[in-house]
Amino acid sequence: MSLFGSAIKNLERAGKLQNIDAQMIEILSHPRRILQFSLPIKMDNGKVKVFEGYRVQYNSARGPYKGGIRYHPEANLDEVKALAFWMTIKCAVAGIPYGGAKGGIKLDPKKLSARELEDVSRAYVRALKDLIGPHQDVPAPDVNTNAKIMGWMVDEYMSIPGNEGKNAVFTGKPIELGGSLGREQATGAGGFFVLMNVLKHLKKDSKKTRVIVQGTGNVGYWFAKYAYDAGMKIVGMSDSQGGLYDTRGRGMNPDEVMNTKRTKGLIAGVYCSGSVCGSVGYKSMSNAKLLEMECDVLAPAALEDQLTSGNAARVKANIVLELANGPTTPDADAKFEKRGVIVVPDVLANAGGVVTSYLEWVQNLQSFYWEEKVVIDRMHALMDSAFSAVWSIKEKKKTSMRMAAYAVALERIAEAIRLRGGV
Ligand code: NAD
Repeated sequence: MSLFGSAIKNLERAGKLQNIDAQMIEILSHPRRILQFSLPIKMDNGKVKVFEGYRVQYNSARGPYKGGIRYHPEANLDEVKALAFWMTIKCAVAGIPYGGAKGGIKLDPKKLSARELEDVSRAYVRALKDLIGPHQDVPAPDVNTNAKIMGWMVDEYMSIPGNEGKNAVFTGKPIELGGSLGREQATGAGGFFVLMNVLKHLKKDSKKTRVIVQGTGNVGYWFAKYAYDAGMKIVGMSDSQGGLYDTRGRGMNPDEVMNTKRTKGLIAGVYCSGSVCGSVGYKSMSNAKLLEMECDVLAPAALEDQLTSGNAARVKANIVLELANGPTTPDADAKFEKRGVIVVPDVLANAGGVVTSYLEWVQNLQSFYWEEKVVIDRMHALMDSAFSAVWSIKEKKKTSMRMAAYAVALERIAEAIRLRGGV
């Protein structure tokens, strides 16, 4: 089944659970707008290459469309649709006034020079300029995009006459261009706050919790750092090149792992090209094998479809914290549910990023900026209340956290559609 197909399956299940009108489910099974465009770029060798770009604006009943832009060689419309749908659910679960969207460009960023990347990023904004804006659609970074790329994008948007000063159009910007303090660590930190709530409700000691993190990028690193600082034991980390496992059970310091990755060098000043595998003192293994190693919490923070019917039975964690979007296939999800493994769904576990994006947008709109602690505390409060809403439905309906999160979101989106005069 396609990624979007399986996302909609969850929507239908949650609709039944929460007795949501079938007409409402029908509305929410379709994106409102799908954009696909060609971006011709003059490469450094003088030849023109055409890249394919996408933006799916899924639903805006609760506020402007909101969602990241992904650069990946396998980016495709089906994936972007699924991600846009999840953003709609996620913003509603988090209780922030946004709808959902997602974008992407099919490219391998590691094969482009910084100049080529800048050109393709600016071309993407020109293709979208009339359909994005602080109150229309507010994009942000995702896999392989970062603050530097948002800087190019916001500059391109604001250089269009009439758009001067409208920096609230993108979030995840560099601080000097209106970015928020705290945004960099937000998604990982938010996942950590959610995990602390789960451990508290399960009466588990966080200091005895062993954690494996798949993916040492922005989200995986910051989550690992917060968990490590709180006394949890990080027993495994991985990246696209491979994984590391601490057979001695002492736990690894994510900063040491990250430093090794960083000292391997930078490509074009935009991407880290090193690998966690350069860290010494740990057992190296494939990133697939790492998912099956002994731990209490497995936190996939890389890409979708990592936990499948093929490996779910061998996963030893009692808690799966979905920091990535869509890391668990529906088959694996069903197996986890049967075995009593708690899956903390992506729409809650990684919502700290979009919540802090919202706080950045609020600061931009009011031109009044907050200290980092204020931002993180506000995000923390919103994450705690999102967790409480989900956990109480989970308990009341005796269902999974994923179904509970979808139920919370659906109720809120359906109400917004009704209040706006929809069916
Ligand atoms: P990133 O590009 O910074 O990091 C991704 C990491 O995953 C890299 O270290 C990469 O080497 C690693 N990786 C790739 N394939 C892997 C594999 N097969 N096994 C192990 N590691 C692998 O991206 P990110 O911003 O950290 O995003 C990670 C995930 O979190 C994505 O699913 C993204 O959609 C989701 N997410 C990100 C944010 C955000 O604020 N950045 C917010 C919400 C959700």
